[in-house]
Amino acid sequence: MVTLDKIAKLAVGGQFEKTSSDIYSKPIDLKKVDILGQGTKHDTCASTASKRKVQESPGRIGDVMSSGICHAFAPDGRCVSLFKTLYTNACQHNCSYCPNSTKSSGAGIMSYTPEELARITIQLYRANTVEGLFLSSGVAGDETKMMDQMIEAVELLRNKYNFMGYIHLKILPGTSHSHIKHAMELVDRVSLNIESPSKSHMHELSSTKDYQNDILQRQKYIRDLVNKDRLPAGQTTQFVVGAAGESDREIFTRMLYEYNVMDLKRQYFSAFHAVGGTELEKNKSQPRWRENRLYQVDWLHRIYKFDRKEMNLAFNEDGFLENRDPKWTIATHVFDGPVDPNTASHEELLRVPGIGPKSAYRIVNIRKKEPIVRKVQLKRIGVRVNHARTFLKLNGWQDTTLKGWLQ
Ligand code: SF4
Repeated sequence: MVTLDKIAKLAVGGQFEKTSSDIYSKPIDLKKVDILGQGTKHDTCASTASKRKVQESPGRIGDVMSSGICHAFAPDGRCVSLFKTLYTNACQHNCSYCPNSTKSSGAGIMSYTPEELARITIQLYRANTVEGLFLSSGVAGDETKMMDQMIEAVELLRNKYNFMGYIHLKILPGTSHSHIKHAMELVDRVSLNIESPSKSHMHELSSTKDYQNDILQRQKYIRDLVNKDRLPAGQTTQFVVGAAGESDREIFTRMLYEYNVMDLKRQYFSAFHAVGGTELEKNKSQPRWRENRLYQVDWLHRIYKFDRKEMNLAFNEDGFLENRDPKWTIATHVFDGPVDPNTASHEELLRVPGIGPKSAYRIVNIRKKEPIVRKVQLKRIGVRVNHARTFLKLNGWQDTTLKGWLQ
């Protein structure tokens, strides 16, 4: 994230004044940049770099498909450096965990104008500080007016400043189909935060947001537009974990719906953090490990393709994850005893903690040429032996901690 310090240094160092061009001569309101940047602190922005089609046009800048500027094309989901900000911190909704809520006594109201936001973004880009923009916002007044302004800022970037870099735009709850469509023609990725796993959980957090209409219906609009190939990087969403007392299993169940029905590309988790001045300021913040364990569950589902029945083994009887690798918990349920890597099926190998898709594939290949009898052979092909040893037997050897697992 761009810090106020970084921007101040650039401004003081005159890096914004390299030319007599109008955009460099206008001062930047650093306090505003700071407050609106802080407002996105809990918004996750792990973004896939752009697959935006290159249009032959000299003078276009920030195009991540071409080389020679300051970034590379990364289709594997790596983070690019983004100017991450709210458009405004004013909001008509009353989400009880949010400092922008009507019920919070947060910082003073701040807003950009479309021109101001586009100008700052392009200044930062040209100063080599960011590669793109992550734009979120409160809903000041109504969502139509807000989306108009956010879209105008993006249009200025694309059309006036010829910016072809990565843009991730948050769609506000309740945004119209036509605004979503227009936004998707301009940006690389959109997301709409679902926040909670169900209508009743959302109701506990906000009396002004309608789960079905403001969130799910808008995700459907996005899904249908993505399917018509209007968006290079698809849609994502984010949960605020534990704000409404929901269990991890409830989040997981919603997660499956979001992947299977809404065709989401990725889902993100932000552990609830009690912020001073909000209605929930006295509630207990959720530990960061909860967020991390949910990412592991997501990984097992998306990458390892564990099915729902198997995934359910990761949760305790109250529906929560323990603070340990969920793959380990699942393995203790699915294996009756340690497996021999020389005879285990590819599916069995994938279920051994410490063996990933690549190392499972390599084991299957290597054992065709020579038997696997020593731990070092596994280490060499990328197996994390310390994790795997409890579940493996090699040439008569098996780990002593096995007893603990079988008890
Ligand atoms: S809609 Fe978003 S910005 Fe507004 S109060 Fe809720 S979480 Fe905060």
